[in-house]
Amino acid sequence: MLSALRKVVQEVNAAASLEQALWLIVERVRAEMNTQVCSIYLLDTASQRYILMATEGLNRESVGRVSLAPGEGLVGLVARREEPLNLDDAESHPQYRYFPETGEERFRSFLGTPIIHLGKVLGVLVVQQVEERRFDESEESFLVTLSAQLAAVIAHAEATGSLDQVTLHGYRPPQASFIGVCGAQGVAVGEVAVIYPAADLYGVPLARTDDIEAELGHFNAALCRVRRDLQDLSEQLQHRLREEERALFDVYLGMLTDSALGGEIVNRIVSESLQARSALAKVILEHVRTFESMDDSYLRERATDVRDLGLRVLAALDQQHERAKRIDYPASTILVAEELTASMLGEVPEDRLVGLISVRGSSSSHVAILARAMGIPTVMGAVDLPYQQLDGRHIVLDAYRGRVYTNPSAELVHQFEEIWREEQQFSREYHALTPLPSETLDGKHLPLWVNTGLMTDVVRSLDRGAEGVGLYRTEISFLLRDRFPSEEEQRNAYREQLTAFAPRPVTMRTLDIGGDKSLPYFPITEDNPFLGWRGIRVSLDHPEIFLVQVRAMLKASEDLNNLRIMLPMISSVPELEQALRLIQRAWRELLEEGYNIQLPQLGAMIEVPAALFQSRELARRVDFLSVGTNDLTQYLLAVDRNNPRVAGLYDSFHPAVLRALVRIVEDVHAEGRTVSVCGEMAGDPGAAVLLMAMGYDVLSMNANNLPKVKSVIRKLQMSDARKLLVEVMAMQDARAIGKHIFDTLTGLGVNPRLLHSKTDA
Ligand code: PEP
Ligand code: MG
Repeated sequence: MLSALRKVVQEVNAAASLEQALWLIVERVRAEMNTQVCSIYLLDTASQRYILMATEGLNRESVGRVSLAPGEGLVGLVARREEPLNLDDAESHPQYRYFPETGEERFRSFLGTPIIHLGKVLGVLVVQQVEERRFDESEESFLVTLSAQLAAVIAHAEATGSLDQVTLHGYRPPQASFIGVCGAQGVAVGEVAVIYPAADLYGVPLARTDDIEAELGHFNAALCRVRRDLQDLSEQLQHRLREEERALFDVYLGMLTDSALGGEIVNRIVSESLQARSALAKVILEHVRTFESMDDSYLRERATDVRDLGLRVLAALDQQHERAKRIDYPASTILVAEELTASMLGEVPEDRLVGLISVRGSSSSHVAILARAMGIPTVMGAVDLPYQQLDGRHIVLDAYRGRVYTNPSAELVHQFEEIWREEQQFSREYHALTPLPSETLDGKHLPLWVNTGLMTDVVRSLDRGAEGVGLYRTEISFLLRDRFPSEEEQRNAYREQLTAFAPRPVTMRTLDIGGDKSLPYFPITEDNPFLGWRGIRVSLDHPEIFLVQVRAMLKASEDLNNLRIMLPMISSVPELEQALRLIQRAWRELLEEGYNIQLPQLGAMIEVPAALFQSRELARRVDFLSVGTNDLTQYLLAVDRNNPRVAGLYDSFHPAVLRALVRIVEDVHAEGRTVSVCGEMAGDPGAAVLLMAMGYDVLSMNANNLPKVKSVIRKLQMSDARKLLVEVMAMQDARAIGKHIFDTLTGLGVNPRLLHSKTDA
């Protein structure tokens, strides 16, 4: 059953359109389950009815004509109840409805399963049989499993507008949203430009051409080149491989002939007006899939050969294209790639780039770090996005919530254009706020600091009136290199940060790698990296790396004295003590070497539940604490902060997180120490109000958010914030809490657009 399942899903995945996919499903399922009928109904969002989209066994004329409302007939019942329905005598069921156009009266037994994607019923898959019999358990579970696997495929096809290829009168492709995670906050409305690496068959978009002759010319030139290369390769290997082994090259050469793949690609260029790269990728991948789905292991291996060949031709084509690099990026380009790289950012002229989407990667990928520094709204890890089909489409990007909307409705576009305009307006006006203090109407001052990593952040932070740096992520400069930076290189980088902010305090966090942040030259491969070797654990196991870093920080602070050193991922008292001892040792050694350096303030992060329950004990041993709500939320809620599939569960307004935050501030203050928040939460204006009411001494955030937070604080009385906190602490639902904060603050005159990140689009 497993191999049958895999085969059907693979074939459907390879289908060129939704229509083809649907017909394939009904044909294959009928064959695999040996039934007389298999039909598929999909929800038409415009009419809210389940429409018969493909069938094997019922009258084909009824496709597109038969439809049912949720709850209507057996199909509607399956959809409404969101569970399978297995009947040996369908006609005797009270919900049975008869459609003469389907010729359905001949079929007695019925098994229907809902097709559900991310909690939404997309349609219903049905098999039927003439004789009165009940489908057995294994048949039922086969159909349930298949529906679950096909749901994502169908959702993709629907979302990219493939539904408009289905002949449904008046059908409008539905708006769809894809989930990723926030790489850099902001919104964008624009046109997609898909970018792909030099040679990646899977990343080639389907692009058409008006100049078939030119494409044929490119293709033939590339083929000649690859043939020559293969012959050369074969000759070079003459002394190392025997003739039989080199026969592979003859196989390759054979595949490229006009009667084989070469001819097929030429046909596609001509018959479908495809660009050579697109035709190549399409043909090669079809063959790869066919070979991969074969039972014979020798034939399966051929998939690798075909792919290799395809990549060679693609590389040859790309070399020709190098000179004709794309220059016609749309005025509002949203750059999309399977894996965006830092170098791709340079492809689009700055004034045309409004947003970025990477199908792979996380908020700590290089490109996301750079995007944050450049202020370009970015969604990372949109794993379900069928990006190859999006080139040239207009989409909406809500990077606050990590969402991508394809086929957006006019209202949605309008709504996001409004948000974008207001943000632009606000970013022009924030200068007026820079000299003003961050204080409430009744004079309570809440210092707003910034999180930095690159020098670009520093410039923006000063411009926005930051009172200090609450988190300098030192690993960022480690991430962008090809080896560990030397003590002197580090000292220079740290000195630059300290000087730029002096006399304001700069909190430098020691290297926080591991988890999702791994250095290319120091790979950490683990099954469960967030629970593995990360942060302080790596530093303590490698004192030579840690001590060099601490020495560099201390030396950089000479005469400036605005350094604070902070330790990430502390989960126990001995761990903290060991790290503090190493810092003291480095300091003493530097004094012995003749440096005149003050011992800086030392602090620890609270980002693991263990540290939260020991915040008093930790506080006693340091000068300050800072809460990393990004990690604390993920560890308290057991929700990976970078996994888009559970992004809906990741919410710092969860009552457990709020209670933890209250407890920390009380415990740390009881020990007479200061405590800040430096996770993303601090930069969310609604959350910042709560943190202020809880008593946090400092909030540290991305420089872009600082003016927004300041603007909101300046609109409130401290009593407003305290009252809101009391109300929220009595609530149990994170979403309701978010909404209550939104309603309360807007009621107090706060501009709703400043609170966008927690509202529903
Ligand atoms: C945090 O975990 O909240 C934090 C600030 O650290 P990072 O996001 O770098 O893990
Ligand atoms: Mg962290």
